[in-house]
Amino acid sequence: SEPLLELRNLRKYFPLRDALGRRRGAVRAVDGVSLSVARGTVLAIVGESGCGKSTLGRLALRLIEPDVGSVLFEGEDLRALSPAALRARRRDMQLIFQDPFASLDPRMTVGAAIAEPLRLHRIIPRSGEAARVAELLERVGLRPEAARRWPHEFSGGQRQRIAIARALASNPRLVIGDEPVSALDVSVQAQVVNLLADLIRDLGLTFVLISHDLGVVRHIADRVAVMYLGSLVEEAPAEALFAAPRHPYTRALLAAVPGRGLRAPPLEGDVPSPIAPPPGCRFHTRCPHAEAICREQVPALTGEAHRAACHLQDRLPPAPPLREAEPG
Ligand code: SF4
Ligand code: MG
Repeated sequence: SEPLLELRNLRKYFPLRDALGRRRGAVRAVDGVSLSVARGTVLAIVGESGCGKSTLGRLALRLIEPDVGSVLFEGEDLRALSPAALRARRRDMQLIFQDPFASLDPRMTVGAAIAEPLRLHRIIPRSGEAARVAELLERVGLRPEAARRWPHEFSGGQRQRIAIARALASNPRLVIGDEPVSALDVSVQAQVVNLLADLIRDLGLTFVLISHDLGVVRHIADRVAVMYLGSLVEEAPAEALFAAPRHPYTRALLAAVPGRGLRAPPLEGDVPSPIAPPPGCRFHTRCPHAEAICREQVPALTGEAHRAACHLQDRLPPAPPLREAEPG
């Protein structure tokens, strides 16, 4: 069937200007990414910070405009919509941010914050608002009395639950979570991840999880897309990606202790600048397998259900088995 969301060849460069306003190159944040998300599934987009995954999420929701490429939601090109039609579409697509402080207005009670999208999109009559807010609070594991209180009265984990309730208020079909638990204390991360997993299952949500945390990804993703320097290097069903990663970059990410995140994959050197990415395979400056062809030719993303962009993917030795997370 038709995917709920389809990204076609998206490109977004952010121009850089010097003090006199002259153009001085551009950050190539997203450079030709195509992906699709089937209804009722969870796609995780992973990679180190600066790889373009947050920009990709914002392009998917048309919060920023691509330079090139298109975004199809239920087969409809979002770039072709009028501003009014796009506003109406917004109720179907919601974003959960990393920092619940930033997404909740401190001058609004929790109830008002959750009711705001209901009013904006005229979803239910005012008389039904309080009951709907109470229902949403209960869905995210909070008591209905929370509606009368203020965001600062809640812990970080509770505030993220409130932000999730607000995102769900308009019955969106697509939710994008940009590092939705990484700002929280480690002790509450698992609770919020379990809540998201329950909501995805119970509401049949289509979810795009942007995350650097492979433990979280492994827990809830159906498919995983790996980005490096603005490009997709691998995309596969989660099980296949964790069991038999094809791309050397994915292998390096997975070689880090599972569940501990991607901040420091065991690789030589830093991520090159996205202003001047290396020619050929962008990963060649850090790849332990690089050969001459890697420095000269951009590898195509090849494969069907499991795609990877590596010249040598059919010649590499099998990846070592994945270590399990250590208990405790
Ligand atoms: Fe490494 Fe070459 Fe494959 Fe790039 S194309 S990941 S440099 S082996
Ligand atoms: Mg980010």
